[in-house]
Amino acid sequence: MRVARLTKSQMTKKLYIETVGCQMNVLDSELVVASLRKHDYELTDNTGDADTILFNTCSVRQHAEDKIYSALGRLKHAKQSQPHKIIGVLGCMAQKDQRLIFERAPYVDLIVGPGQLHQVPDLIKGIEAGSGQQMEVSLGRKDGSRDSIERSHESFDPLRDPAMRPTPFQAYVRIQIGCDKFCTYCIVPSVRGPEQSRPPQHILSEARQLADEGCKELILLGQTVNSYRFRDAAVASGQETRMSDLLYALHEIEGIERIKFITNYPKDMTDDLLEAVRDLPKCAKYLHVPIQSASDRILQRMKRGYTVAEYLVMMDRIREWLPDAAVTSDFIVGFCGETEEDFQLTCDLLREQRFKNSFIFKYSERPGTKGAEQYLDDVPEEVKKRRNNELLAIQNQVSEEDNQLFLGRDVQVLIEGPSKASLKLQESGRQQESGRQQVSGKGGSGKGESGQGESGPGAPANPESGSRETGNHGTGNHGIGQQDAESQQLQLTGRTMCDRIVVFDGNRRQIGQTLPVTIYDANAHTLFGTVVTQHIGPELFSLSG
Ligand code: SF4
Repeated sequence: MRVARLTKSQMTKKLYIETVGCQMNVLDSELVVASLRKHDYELTDNTGDADTILFNTCSVRQHAEDKIYSALGRLKHAKQSQPHKIIGVLGCMAQKDQRLIFERAPYVDLIVGPGQLHQVPDLIKGIEAGSGQQMEVSLGRKDGSRDSIERSHESFDPLRDPAMRPTPFQAYVRIQIGCDKFCTYCIVPSVRGPEQSRPPQHILSEARQLADEGCKELILLGQTVNSYRFRDAAVASGQETRMSDLLYALHEIEGIERIKFITNYPKDMTDDLLEAVRDLPKCAKYLHVPIQSASDRILQRMKRGYTVAEYLVMMDRIREWLPDAAVTSDFIVGFCGETEEDFQLTCDLLREQRFKNSFIFKYSERPGTKGAEQYLDDVPEEVKKRRNNELLAIQNQVSEEDNQLFLGRDVQVLIEGPSKASLKLQESGRQQESGRQQVSGKGGSGKGESGQGESGPGAPANPESGSRETGNHGTGNHGIGQQDAESQQLQLTGRTMCDRIVVFDGNRRQIGQTLPVTIYDANAHTLFGTVVTQHIGPELFSLSG
């Protein structure tokens, strides 16, 4: 789970927010925090301190929902002893379960679907004023005309809170909400509503604002982002903006160095889009295009809308236009009726297509989907698990082999910040320090709830495991006391233009820069390198000579 960072204030109210799920949820949380900051809220990472506790939830898998209900269960006693605490459930699970959440956890005060998040500050105010439990959700897909359903799935204005971003140099930008594809396993079209593309002027003004704030990388978000199409009803000709047009316009913004977009739908991978990605230097040569299965029978049951042959034709076109692009995919194993034969087709396709990496999931039946209504979830859990591991092993082998090709090469890395290993070291240093203070009698009450540290499933993919600790070139000087923190060496992480994770030793001053790094080692998930240092010629020495 993604947990908010701590800021301190004595007068303001405290907000604890936990986010589960995809990048769309991460962005939603950013916007909720921004709107609550305007109402005198500050973040805390401690539920014990919080005046308001919010869970921004995901319904894509049962496990994600179970986690939230367990977290709510743990708050029952806190609510009894501190009834003024406001507990809220936001996002997809709120839209899907609605009043069921009040039934299962009657002490929850607030339920808000993803299309109603702009109402959160007012709803909280109402609860504070004694209005009792509040629920705001959007219309269901059969609850009205398309127009009224669309309007009930309001998206936020571009309120941003830089402190909630993955890094200050990167920002998600929503360009589309909802989905009309109705894959039979997926709950998204029900909870996020109809597919709607955002007006390009809104996207561009948000992107300019982000660039002014120092953001260098935009990650455009949509459930099927490449289906983006905005037709301006106000213009008589009904002029249409395609995804490729949007990329050309965003590319003009000064300060933006990289543009990525996720997640693509195979059937909407048009030539004009591939051409734009090829021709625009700021566009990452990276495409995430889920296939889900390589069995036509299963694809048909999933209602994905393409055959394996059609997907492969699309892959050929990607390679024609973008021979060096990194392509990643998603797979669902153990979908209803998936035989060993179907699964082997998927394994074969993965070996052939050599995706940079894949997100592999065991099928999880979601009530309310066509899949749950029409098919029996008949693949036993242990078979799903085994297939998941098998496919993962193939992907890891492919990823490792392909990453080895980078050995000795220089890559341009946008440096995001300390690596996971560095953060772990810093955290354990802090814990040791606070332990020392408590032993010496300076530790305050010492009984607050401990800091939260889980990271969210479905968070922006960062499989950089930190298993290398400080890497082969680790300097091990993390304990140096009062040295200039800016120049102190630490392990950093960043990404290449084709979205490969690179880990290397550097210093804090380099964070946010794009630097060349020479790769000396690689595993399936990570490239390890050293920053290329420029040779300064002897003529400089002559100045002091
Ligand atoms: S394209 Fe399919 S899997 Fe993706 S969000 Fe839409 S319904 Fe879900």
